[in-house]
Amino acid sequence: MPLAPLAGHEAVKSLLAGAASAGRLPQAMLFAGPRGVGKQRLALWLAQVLACVRPGREPCGDCRPCRQVLTLQHPDVHWFVPLEVSKKGADADKQVELVAEALAEEITARREQPLYDPFAATAGGGGLASHAIAAVRLLLRRVVLTPAAGSRKVFIVGDAERLIPQHGMEDAANALLKVLEEPPADTTIILTASDPNALLPTILSRVVLVRVARLPDSVVAAFAQQVLGISSKAELTQRVSTAEGCIGKLFATGGVRSGSLAQADRFLAAPLAFALGQVPYQARGGFTDMLDALAGRLREEAGAGGETDKLVEAIARVMDARQLAQGNVNPQLLAAVLAGDVEQARPS
Ligand SMILES: [Zn+2]
Repeated sequence: MPLAPLAGHEAVKSLLAGAASAGRLPQAMLFAGPRGVGKQRLALWLAQVLACVRPGREPCGDCRPCRQVLTLQHPDVHWFVPLEVSKKGADADKQVELVAEALAEEITARREQPLYDPFAATAGGGGLASHAIAAVRLLLRRVVLTPAAGSRKVFIVGDAERLIPQHGMEDAANALLKVLEEPPADTTIILTASDPNALLPTILSRVVLVRVARLPDSVVAAFAQQVLGISSKAELTQRVSTAEGCIGKLFATGGVRSGSLAQADRFLAAPLAFALGQVPYQARGGFTDMLDALAGRLREEAGAGGETDKLVEAIARVMDARQLAQGNVNPQLLAAVLAGDVEQARPS
């Protein structure tokens, strides 16, 4: 099933297509805008513009590369999404293979159902999915390849907040920074994030920020009617109002997680007291959501000029804890250990 048409975003589309046709498109960009607003869909549209044999202000939609992009089958368009991959005991090469397989599966699922819930785990909305270091290695391997079909490769890294630092993997992380700073001449890299400040400052400083704004209600309503077939006026009004200018919210199946941020703030205010005083988490999902929110807060502090090295180290600790939470380790114990690490990283 081909992707649904990209709705709205006319101004930013015109900016991007204009830059592309003038040969002035930045090679490393960050599309930032609210979750579900269509950043990755916009990135795929741009990939189509770059691959189209008759490019203009819009891709023709009809040539072979256009159709390949629209069915997520273009060999030079590499779409990375956060994944939950269990890789216990696997060596580095095997991990890269596992990530490649999991990614192929996820993209196949999206080909069958292109309208995914932006709040689902693999869409970066919650849970344990991330861009593990093995995914970074996979990207690094593909970035040096010659384009298979056309003349350019396009890399889309959705939910780039989930590019996580890991201990002992600094070489891959640094290699990624180098690629962002100076991508191969035939390569365009597009990161997407709902909050640019949630990215590590080292990544943020190497990409050109492109804001993706909320859509007018009229655009969301037209999409709901034409693509989703919603005809009841009452339902339409209600769904459009809930979507708040983000088409992706029309297909959100669960609620937006709340409370995680408040918990993260309580943790930061008094880490050890929080760890000891907390009721053990009923669901590990709740614990990992709190850790995500915590990592987000630490990134904000790093972005605001905190002690970056120490904060990056603390973020890595939070991500280690997140990884451990997938196993049988007691969340309360993890929180207690993490409390010590985080207190050290932050001047009180
Ligand atoms: Zn075309």
